[in-house]
Amino acid sequence: MTAQSQRIGVLCLQGSFAEHITKLRGLGATVTEVRLPAHLDNIDALVIPGGESTTFLKLIDAFSMREPLHHAIAGGLPVLATCAGVVILATRISSHRMSPLALVDIAVSRNAFGRQVESFEEDLTIEGIPGPSFRGVFIRAPIIQSCGAATRVLARIHDGTIVACQQGRILATSFHPEFVPDLRVHEYFLRMADGAKGSARYQVK
Ligand code: GLN
Repeated sequence: MTAQSQRIGVLCLQGSFAEHITKLRGLGATVTEVRLPAHLDNIDALVIPGGESTTFLKLIDAFSMREPLHHAIAGGLPVLATCAGVVILATRISSHRMSPLALVDIAVSRNAFGRQVESFEEDLTIEGIPGPSFRGVFIRAPIIQSCGAATRVLARIHDGTIVACQQGRILATSFHPEFVPDLRVHEYFLRMADGAKGSARYQVK
């Protein structure tokens, strides 16, 4: 199965979904805009974009998406979560009282690099992505403070802070690969999703 025939859902409730859609279409995937539970049917993988995680979670509940998302992802649906998406999937948010989906065994601290003006970029080495460094764009990004035993660290910034990890078929980056021309994180995600085909039950119904 090639990227041409992959059906990728993008959670379009809020945030940087348009940038993800452009990248995925550029790589030949067929994109489904996910706004309602039924949109999770017949997708091979899902992107949860960056944005504002408290607003995201409110909208997830308002559109009755919490249980269907949990069911699909816990059932093996591959996911790329970026920035606020990482907060949404975490098991623990140390900095705020929130109820995330608790699907990735990580502790995160929101907005931990400071205010919007403290946003920054850094060249990253990402495990599984060979070649030149990847430009990491951090916009009021969360810090991944710790990862559970089943979660692999894929990238850190200069001071050792974890900024990318993978648990099974869930790829989480506290930076925004959707905001740089480099396609390699999305390519990695599509390869990961392709590898999951047939090996997992991730159909919602
Ligand atoms: N600060 C946001 C939050 O925690 C995330 C920012 C982003 O996705 N760029 O919700």
